[in-house]
Amino acid sequence: MRQDTTGGTPLTLLGLGAMGTALARAWLAAGHPLTVWNRTAARAEPLAAEGVTVAATAAEAVAANGLVVVCLLDDASVRQALAGADLAGRDLVNLTTGTPGQARDLADWAHERGARFNGGGVMAVPRMIGVPGSGGYVFYSGSRELFEAHRDVLAVPAGARYVGTDPGFAALHDVALLSAMTGMFAGIAHAFALIRRETIAPGDLAPLLADWLGAMAASSVHLTAAQLASGDYVTGTGSNLAMMVAANDTLRRTAQEQGVGAELLQPYLTLMARRLADGHGAESGTGVVDLLTG
Ligand code: NDP
Repeated sequence: MRQDTTGGTPLTLLGLGAMGTALARAWLAAGHPLTVWNRTAARAEPLAAEGVTVAATAAEAVAANGLVVVCLLDDASVRQALAGADLAGRDLVNLTTGTPGQARDLADWAHERGARFNGGGVMAVPRMIGVPGSGGYVFYSGSRELFEAHRDVLAVPAGARYVGTDPGFAALHDVALLSAMTGMFAGIAHAFALIRRETIAPGDLAPLLADWLGAMAASSVHLTAAQLASGDYVTGTGSNLAMMVAANDTLRRTAQEQGVGAELLQPYLTLMARRLADGHGAESGTGVVDLLTG
């Protein structure tokens, strides 16, 4: 069905993968005239039938509108796609996942070509895009003027959270959250491995794990933040490092008894033991942050 897009702010979108297509449909449904480009033209055909304008080249799509959103595979694909485009006077928003350094370099490159720039970090999967209340949102950073000018349009697919003028900060927030999630996934894999050969059903452990992880995350992230801010890693500590390192031996031995590799746990346990050996037994685990940053 064709959408009525009269009256909405027009914009350009480069990239119609799973995420780009979801973004396109959200803007279209909200009445924003949309010009799109995708390397593989066939992927744009369903959207063309829904009222999107399909450009033959990325340069043509960039020329069509002041606001240009990019959602491609990686930094290299963004560089390739934008290579021949005239960015003068454009507001470029890059929602492609990348590192903070890549975002800063791209911002410099865009500024040299006369564009304003925002980097982005999408904290959502495609099915959450354009769904109010899904909990999905996007980090933005870089030009405050760009963000303020387009805040309403950017907030259409998912909540828009501006995290500072440094164009790398959106990526840094994104990767900080993804890194924490990765550690959590490692812990979940280890927990299920421990019960794998037993008569405990994974489905019985699942709700216990979910509740426990939620409760532990809620308390530990705030304690860690407060201790890092004050520099006092003892005040507020309920579980001290000396006790936790002793308990870690039980974690290691249980893995051994169950025939489970400890390679996911061991790096963290090693850092905790090092911090204890440095004489910080009364602290929480916050000092591990200092070990990582050197
Ligand atoms: P897809 O793999 O579905 O799509 C990749 C897109 O990049 C396609 O449009 C593809 O074009 C294009 N592309 C790849 N290489 C090039 C190139 N060299 N030149 C031009 N275009 C290229 O990925 P998603 O849409 O899922 O992800 C897009 C971005 O969004 C990624 O950075 C991803 O990390 C991020 N993201 C994705 C999430 C998800 O759950 N999907 C969640 C959060 C962020 P073609 O169709 O021609 O192959």
